[in-house]
Amino acid sequence: MTIFDKIINREIPADIVYEDELSLAFRDINPQAPVHILLIPKQKILSLDHLKSEDQDLLGHLLLTAKRIANEEGLDNGYRIAINCGNDGGQSVDHLHIHILGGRSMTWPPG
Ligand code: AMP
Repeated sequence: MTIFDKIINREIPADIVYEDELSLAFRDINPQAPVHILLIPKQKILSLDHLKSEDQDLLGHLLLTAKRIANEEGLDNGYRIAINCGNDGGQSVDHLHIHILGGRSMTWPPG
């Protein structure tokens, strides 16, 4: 069980901004931008690399939901979507999550 399962189960608090039957979004505890939200599937999927072909609809739902949240947060000047995957990708929680970052100009390449 990860910290994100505990947030899904309401065992620890989080600043939840969106929820539906498939997903949950909450503000990152260590924000890297004025808006930094994590969107996760309620279904336990370890990482992007663990997605299966039958998860296609779920992934589409997550990306469309990320766009909807960015719109609702007023990120009209753009935003960044990031999915860190595995050790080299910088993933620190073993539950698939989409970072939604905005409210400042992003740099490239990422560190
Ligand atoms: P990653 O490094 O891509 O695995 O991202 C994990 C993110 O989870 C980091 O940005 C952390 O700041 C964030 N995080 C860890 N614990 C919590 C928590 N309890 N509530 C909100 N965000 C968290």
